[in-house]
Amino acid sequence: MRFDRLRLNGFKSFVDPTDLVIREGLTGVVGPNGCGKSNLLEALRWVMGENRPTAMRGEGMEDVIFAGTSRRSARGHAEVTLTIDNHDRLAPAGFNDEDNFEIARRITRDAGSAYKIGGKDVRARDVQMLFADASTGAHSPALVRQGQISELINAKPKSRRRILEEAAGISGLYQRRHEAELKLNGAENNLTRVDDTLDQLS
Ligand code: ATP
Repeated sequence: MRFDRLRLNGFKSFVDPTDLVIREGLTGVVGPNGCGKSNLLEALRWVMGENRPTAMRGEGMEDVIFAGTSRRSARGHAEVTLTIDNHDRLAPAGFNDEDNFEIARRITRDAGSAYKIGGKDVRARDVQMLFADASTGAHSPALVRQGQISELINAKPKSRRRILEEAAGISGLYQRRHEAELKLNGAENNLTRVDDTLDQLS
């Protein structure tokens, strides 16, 4: 499973539809200051389900929509589509039947984000779990932003452990355990309420 193509439309400075073809091997993005290199990396995190506006250098998630310039008016929505090459059939179960599939995220002003996998509407969680199970995602240490290397060198052992867990492909399991614990707590609360009701009736 590898990233094949990133398509941006109305995302930050990429107001016109723009395709970035990601070839095998190392991909470098070069260009003058302010040309949009970091915006590309943010688009990749965003389509993988990033939900913290600060990680997009914004105050609210709608800040990723093209805000307009003196010559072009602002857009009402932004969309990023990531094409996955799945010829190696390494996509997680449930997504593994196709040679290629697309993951898309669209944000509309005042209407929030909507996600699609292979053209079908899905939840943010479905996209996040797909990438977590494939040992990547919006928080993957494989995506290195400016200043991150020195942060890692100075990080506490607990933070470094997260990187090893990511590489070992177990971050998705942590998320599922957390959700299972929340469900268990909910079930225990319900049982307590049933016991209380039974006490009142007897
Ligand atoms: P540097 O090399 O200095 O780090 P860079 O190539 O990484 O720069 P980015 O930070 O990706 O550049 O892009 C910054 C540009 O994106 C700025 O010109 C900024 O005005 C523009 N930009 C950011 N958000 C939006 C938005 N919502 N609408 C329009 N333009 C935006």
